[in-house]
Order: sequence, then C-alpha cells, then structure tokens
Amino acid sequence: MPYDFTNKVAVVTGASRGIGLAVARQLSAYGAKVCVNYKSSKERAEEAVRELNTAGGEAMAVQADVSDQSQAQQLIQQAESQLGPIDFLVNNAGIFDVAAHDEFDEQMWHRTMKINVDGVFYCSWAVKDAMVARGYGRIVNIASIAGLEAKPYAIAYATSKAAVVGFTRSLGQALAADNVRVNAVAPGLIDTEILADCDQAWLDRLIDITPSKRIGQADEVARMVSFLLSDESDFTVGQTLVLSGGRVNLP
Ligand code: NAP
Repeated sequence: MPYDFTNKVAVVTGASRGIGLAVARQLSAYGAKVCVNYKSSKERAEEAVRELNTAGGEAMAVQADVSDQSQAQQLIQQAESQLGPIDFLVNNAGIFDVAAHDEFDEQMWHRTMKINVDGVFYCSWAVKDAMVARGYGRIVNIASIAGLEAKPYAIAYATSKAAVVGFTRSLGQALAADNVRVNAVAPGLIDTEILADCDQAWLDRLIDITPSKRIGQADEVARMVSFLLSDESDFTVGQTLVLSGGRVNLP
C-alpha cells in the first residue's frame, strides 16, 4: 500500500462515476472513510458504497448539488456527523460542454461556472475553517489542461478550469501556515463518460497530438490525487500538477 490513510475522512464530490469514483476507490483501499457525493446517479453512488464496504472500507453516499451552497454545506455536515471531521476534500464534480463561441449562451456560461467554480468554492468553504482549527487538512481540486491553454471550442469550460487553478494557487498560500494544503490536478483526456458526447474523430485527433499517443485512465488521476493528499507531497502548496501524456508542458 503506497499510502496509509487509515482513519482519514474524505469527501469526494462527483464520485458516482469516472475520476471521482476512481479516487473514492483508491482512498478507501488505502484505509480512508469515504463520502461518495453525487447529484443524480443515486443507484451508481449506492453501488459504489456497497462495493467499498464489501471490500472492508467504510463509505457512505450523499446526494448534493455542489453548485448550491446550502447543499454543499449539508454534504459536509452529513459526512462529518457520520464519518468524523473531514481530513480530505477532493473537489472533482464538474461538467464539460463543447460549443463554439456562436453556439453557447449566457445560460451555458453560468451553468458551467456554478458547478465548476462555485461548487469548488462552496465545498472548500464548508471544510476550511474546521481544518484550520484542527491544524490539518488537504484539499485537491480537479482542474484540467483546459485551464492552462486556449480552448476555443470550450470557452466557458476553459475559463472555469483556469479559475480553479487560480483559486488553488491563492487558497493554497492562504492556508499553508495552518497545515491545510490545497493543490490541484490538471488532467488531459481521460476515458470517462464526460467525453460521451464528443465526436470520435475529434478525440482521435487529440490522442494523435498527445506524445504518449493514448487517452489517460481515471486510476492515473486518482494516483496523483492520493500523492497530493499524502504526506509525500508535504512541501507542495498551491500547485496544479499536469497529467496529460505530454500534451501540455508548463514552462
Ligand atoms: P463524469 O464521468 O461525467 O463524472 C462527473 C461526476 O460529477 C458525476 O459523478 C456527477 O454526478 C458529478 N456531478 C456533476 N454535476 C454535479 C453537481 N452539480 N453536484 C454534484 N456532483 C455533480 O466526469 P469525469 O470525467 O469523471 O470528470 C470529473 C472531473 O474531472 C470534472 O471536474 C472534469 O472537468 C475533470 N476533468 C475530466 C477530464 C476528462 O477527460 N475526463 C479531463 C480534465 C478534467 P451524477 O452522476 O450524479 O450526475
């Protein structure tokens, strides 16, 4: 076991499937008690909890729309009252819309910002004061390479993820002295249902320009998240680690 998260309490937003589910599985396998948040996929979240508990873990599912502040607060309160004080928050819930500049409107813009940006803020604010008071906490935000480079076909999404990168940087500095570490992961293309509506030829072109010549797997993101939650990354603060098969290279 690379990390021992025994007795740590983790909340993973959007963990009914995809990257969030992979993170929940990994944290549970390393001993953490895990709150699996979902918005609509009740059966899948409950199935995930059954799977984790059957494997010897302690998990629970909580329905909450993270873009609603009171629901985000209730999510954290429910997790805390059943599992204990929150050690790890993984802000993973997010949506992705592909649309050219003349195809998207104000409604799509606000929907993306509400979930991808406000949701990260609401959940972080619901945990941070208790983390500061305890002198321990780890927050990992799932950004995207879209937040690091131009995405003319996904302007709202790219802007939302750039906001997550900026939020991570600033909150990371604000809380570091209290031993609350905030970092982010910026994945490239990862094989999940978020890509279900994307044109396959377009995805193939993206894979072709990826030096590794493949799509990433949710487990690979989960491994980086576990690293950032662990003490192995103790001197890493406010950073966004890129996981894109070489497609994006930061200076
Ligand atoms: P996914 O398979 O579509 O899963 C999205 C998850 O987010 C689901 O569990 C969904 O819950 C949840 N969710 C959506 N809106 C929510 C809300 N308002 N409140 C609570 N939960 C909500 O997507 P994914 O690929 O795993 O993406 C996870 C994160 O990684 C996102 O932030 C995404 O932007 C980021 N990312 C993904 C890729 C990629 O290529 N896959 C690349 C870079 C970054 P329900 O099932 O209940 O709706």
